[in-house]
Amino acid sequence: MAWDFSTEPEFEAQLEWMRGFVREEIIPLEVLDLDRAAFDRITAPLKEQVRERGLWAAHLPPELGGGGFGQVRLGLMHEILGQCRYAPGIFGNQAPDSGNAELLAIGGSPEQQERWMHPLLRGELRSCFSMTEPGAGADPTLLTTRAVLDGDDYVIDGHKWFSSNASVADFLIVMCVTDPDVSPYQGSSMIIVPVDTPGVTIVRDIPVMDHPTRSPALYGGHAEVLYEGVRVPRENLVGNPGDGFRLAQQRLGPGRIHHAMRWLGQSRRAFDMLCERAVSRHTHGSVLADKQMVQDWVATSAAEMQAARLMTLHAAWTMDRVGAANARLEIGMVKYWGAKVLHDVIDRAIQVHGSLGFSGDLPLEEMYRAARAARIYDGPDEVHKATVAKRILRGYAPVDVPTEHVPTRAAAARERFAAHLDLVTADL
Ligand SMILES: Cc1cc2nc3c(=O)[nH]c(=O)nc-3n(C[C@H](O)[C@H](O)[C@H](O)COP(=O)(O)OP(=O)(O)OC[C@H]3O[C@@H](n4cnc5c(N)ncnc54)[C@H](O)[C@@H]3O)c2cc1C
Repeated sequence: MAWDFSTEPEFEAQLEWMRGFVREEIIPLEVLDLDRAAFDRITAPLKEQVRERGLWAAHLPPELGGGGFGQVRLGLMHEILGQCRYAPGIFGNQAPDSGNAELLAIGGSPEQQERWMHPLLRGELRSCFSMTEPGAGADPTLLTTRAVLDGDDYVIDGHKWFSSNASVADFLIVMCVTDPDVSPYQGSSMIIVPVDTPGVTIVRDIPVMDHPTRSPALYGGHAEVLYEGVRVPRENLVGNPGDGFRLAQQRLGPGRIHHAMRWLGQSRRAFDMLCERAVSRHTHGSVLADKQMVQDWVATSAAEMQAARLMTLHAAWTMDRVGAANARLEIGMVKYWGAKVLHDVIDRAIQVHGSLGFSGDLPLEEMYRAARAARIYDGPDEVHKATVAKRILRGYAPVDVPTEHVPTRAAAARERFAAHLDLVTADL
């Protein structure tokens, strides 16, 4: 019987080191106004310390330069890294680079791994996953970006947007239709495009709620990208023609768990602010902690975070045992449940701080704006809910009379126990 909620002492020691490191060395960077060069200067020695602890790029197997930790341990690590948006990058685990490295580890040729994946893991290159189009998001079967084989090259034409990191990336992994005559699930492929290839235009970083006025210099925005007659060698195809959706599924599964764990780190930080304020602020005759409505926020937030944490770790454990493809139900539930918990806990933390919570004098308003996107990216909540519901409903068959119909069950039970019922009657 293995049903164990504990962490091995050696790994717990690593987690404890990470907690201190993120708190002491990384979170303070948030309040400095750094340009890229200064940020790189400050973070280079921090990255070195992470490497020395054997925690760099922990998402990949050791033979590919990663830690080979598996999803449960990665989940626990991401919970710590999620507290601060700079922390994943300093641990070589920054989305979308981490997911792209994972993708190249799974589907890339040895040459692609050498040229793109290893430099990505060493932090020498940056990457982007370019799939969503203005006309195709939640339903990727509507993608229209075409890649046509011309001699030994693919020629790509299309229009993407929300390609995170594209404006700071060295290469883009572009989801294209390579065979329009079959179902999109068989006719789509991923192709590596160096960002300086003629025909690639980074139109703009789209202003978003998270950074409405300018794109963040340190971690890239969400770009609109035009591909016009973009020619790349056919060797840049990842996997085989038509592998696009299969690979996307393998890439997005672990990524969603890591997101969900990072959300827990964010929620926890907001929760700590909520509780600190509750015991500090005196109004209407008592501290806020004495008001039952505030107690309700504390208790509800704690329970929701605990539920999200257990769900996320269970999904990670399922992935470790049966692979991402067989854990889609668990991953889907974590995606929409975790995003809601994140939003609601930050919302309550803002509320308990009043106008201070709404202000830029606390990180809550920024956290709230970033959290709103969690219900949309990696597939909107509604799509995950529909997938989960469909999978669950597959286990049920239609009936004429509800299985639990009491009169029907009573008739069946009377028939089954007739002999005993007669005895009881006779005894009487
Ligand atoms: C911060 C951020 C970063 C992103 N990064 C990337 C990236 O790096 N690369 C990339 O390719 N994409 C990226 N995206 C795009 C993201 O994956 C898409 O926004 C997402 O898939 C939804 O697509 P859409 O925006 O076109 O919404 P639509 O497809 O237009 O859907 C709109 C709404 O319709 C509803 N809806 C859709 N389908 C259903 C359904 N079946 N049932 C019920 N309701 C439904 C949902 O409420 C949904 O929010 C990012 C998005 C954000 C916000």
